[in-house]
Amino acid sequence: MDDYALKLHGDAVVVDTHCDTLKCLTPRFTRVKGSMWEDRSGVGMGVRSSLGHVDIPRLMEGGVDCQFFAVSSERDRTPPYPLRTAMEMVDTFYSECERNRDAVKPVTKYDEIMRAVGEGKVAAMLSIEGADVIEGEIGMLRVFHRLGVRMVGLVHSLRNPLADGVADTRTGGGLSELGVQAVEELDRLGVLIDASHLSDAGFWDLIDVAKGPIVASHSNSRAVCDHPRNMTDQMIRALADAGGVMGMNFAPFFVHPTKPSVETLVDHIDHIVGLVGPDHVGLGSDFDGIPSTPKDLEDVSRMPNITAELVRRGYSEEDVSKILGRNHLRVFMRVVG
Ligand SMILES: [Zn+2]
Repeated sequence: MDDYALKLHGDAVVVDTHCDTLKCLTPRFTRVKGSMWEDRSGVGMGVRSSLGHVDIPRLMEGGVDCQFFAVSSERDRTPPYPLRTAMEMVDTFYSECERNRDAVKPVTKYDEIMRAVGEGKVAAMLSIEGADVIEGEIGMLRVFHRLGVRMVGLVHSLRNPLADGVADTRTGGGLSELGVQAVEELDRLGVLIDASHLSDAGFWDLIDVAKGPIVASHSNSRAVCDHPRNMTDQMIRALADAGGVMGMNFAPFFVHPTKPSVETLVDHIDHIVGLVGPDHVGLGSDFDGIPSTPKDLEDVSRMPNITAELVRRGYSEEDVSKILGRNHLRVFMRVVG
């Protein structure tokens, strides 16, 4: 890789708004029959593993400065008690941060992200993927906020009391009354609202209801790769008009039906930049949540390959740093502070 691209990557604050690594570290998930997650709870996040995609040595090697870690609901695979499962994942997150405190720091504010980066540590942010975990209680959003959660996605593809997900193709539903209340509370608390996994109708409801910019933490362009988890051009324009940002997802089937690679992933970035300019796209790998990876993005240590491809396509230094992280940081600063 050329030195210029490597230097750009090293100088940029690289932000990844989605990974499922907490599942690999929480035995409740890995021990479910048929689970795709291989148990790494014994070794933890601090040891370089040949399994999965994310651990601290590989985050460092990939130059990732701020990693969001999702506390996740999975209606078909999570054992019962979503709130208790979420608590276990929060515990996993803080236990791993404590165990590896020389290399990783839990953060809840923009200033804390930048301080951690200045100390050469990975800034670790908690998020929720699928607010099934609040078990219908808006008050639990306040508790999760106190626990450090700074981004919440209402659904994880399947409908819950808050909204319909992208997998509910028969219903045509959007946000429920409770979902609207949740959005209002998240706005009030200063928590990023994540549109990824929502039904299309839910996305449009969210655009109507949310006061601040919203994010789509791990979603691509549907015009480039026709998958319901990706966003139409109309949705991308609305997200951009609201000042939001979307993180590019590395799941092969969201990238390209036959040739998932760094090149075809950057095709999504090209399309979005062509549509709404360079201020609304970032990275949201979905590492450790995807069964396979695109060519040359085998794990998080390969992140610099994206920068090299952006440079090869003539992106300016400024636009590269926006795409690698500054866009996400701008929205984070505005919504969370
Ligand atoms: Zn997801």
